[in-house]
Amino acid sequence: MVGVFAHPEAANLAYLGLYALQHRGQESAGIVAAHEGKLQSYRGMGRVAEVFGPKEIAKLPGNQAIGHVRYSTSGGSVLQNTQPILIDYRHGSFAIAHNGNLVNARELRGRLEEQGAIFHTSMDTEVVVHLLARVPGKDAGERLAAALAQVSGAYSLVCLTETRLIGVRDPMGFRPLVLGRLIDSGGFVLASETCALDLMGAEFVRDVAPGEMVIISAEGIESRFDLPPSPRHMCIFEYLYFARPDSVLDGIHVYSARKRIGQVLARLHPIDADLVVPVPDSGVAAAMGYAEASGLPFELGLIRNHYVGRTFIQPAQHGRDFGVRVKLNAQPEILKGKRVVLVDDSIVRGTTSAKIVHLIRSAGAREIHFLSSSPPTIGPCYYGIDTPDRSQLIAAQHSVEEVGKMIGADSLGYLTIDALYEAIGSRSLGFCDACFSNDYPIAVPTLPSSRQLYLLKELR
Ligand code: AMP
Repeated sequence: MVGVFAHPEAANLAYLGLYALQHRGQESAGIVAAHEGKLQSYRGMGRVAEVFGPKEIAKLPGNQAIGHVRYSTSGGSVLQNTQPILIDYRHGSFAIAHNGNLVNARELRGRLEEQGAIFHTSMDTEVVVHLLARVPGKDAGERLAAALAQVSGAYSLVCLTETRLIGVRDPMGFRPLVLGRLIDSGGFVLASETCALDLMGAEFVRDVAPGEMVIISAEGIESRFDLPPSPRHMCIFEYLYFARPDSVLDGIHVYSARKRIGQVLARLHPIDADLVVPVPDSGVAAAMGYAEASGLPFELGLIRNHYVGRTFIQPAQHGRDFGVRVKLNAQPEILKGKRVVLVDDSIVRGTTSAKIVHLIRSAGAREIHFLSSSPPTIGPCYYGIDTPDRSQLIAAQHSVEEVGKMIGADSLGYLTIDALYEAIGSRSLGFCDACFSNDYPIAVPTLPSSRQLYLLKELR
């Protein structure tokens, strides 16, 4: 998610910001720009470069814009469910982009539908605009705060009106959001991660605080804290997998944290081996940390093809592990006869890990010791990371030894939760680690989410 305020090429900057944030969602992309008191939108399925070209950007003139890349955790992956959502209501126009997942969206939607509301999408985000149309308030900020007081869950939001750019982080601060200043125009930007700032020509100002709303207008920046305060619960998985390594989230540099995690892994799991090999890209920094701390050589035994699209033509006789082989190729020249420490960020279902272990074994490795830089993933996420149901989480169903056997490794080691916080630097900052601890900071939804309903429908 990005927002741009006071730049003559706002949509173009939003596009660049989204480009840098592509890792946060590849299903769809959209931009809304404000021009002469009117909001205009362009959205499409696919990656940023597939959706936007010079023609599309030219259709979005104006000095203010917001943009979104989507990875669905609520609502199906269809054009109708692309963001930002743009609406006209009695107070004017309003566009909203959302990162996170609301846990009481089904209840709110049911109530709103009983009152006659007509929904256009199956996204949880749409309840926010319906609430916005109903609440009192003298300006967009006040109304948005009143609407958000009714929702529960994870949300970082970037919103646009004819005259204002608004950024909000939920009271627990599950998802990141940063404020930056445009170096040439003196305008402002909002972005999910700091890695977007450089490409947008902006410098880092500060993180938006949990529970904070920043309202950027011609008068400057107003900061408000209208939402009920709550202890901070930043998502720990952002640091392990989701965020880009060159980002700094709430003061913690992701790449350095991942390297420290690898160093701690080396202390927890000393292994008599010949090589440390990462699963690229997500395991690279942790594997470097492991190699540094253990003194074992770091080698790229797996090479990743960076140009794999979402679909490819699969021959009928394609053999085992084709999907993984398209992305990763094992190098026998490096691996043959070697005892390998293989480092990846996480094991979720276990299917990818099993295929990767098989690839490395086929390339001649003598032993494979798999290390996960996350603790065992035992709980699904309800706050914006797409983890499957508990029944599909291999570590929720099996012991470490069993998982090791199932993925075909000679041994398997995980990071522990305590060691994770040692590497991150401070537990007291406040994190959500429900996926590793089953300790959910907000009651999990009792009704199935619209995404679960959609997936069930797809299955039928
Ligand atoms: P699997 O164990 O087969 O479910 O796949 C685990 C791999 O998927 C790990 O190597 C991660 O890099 C990656 N991964 C972990 N969490 C997610 C997620 N929420 N969305 C997409 N990929 C993920």
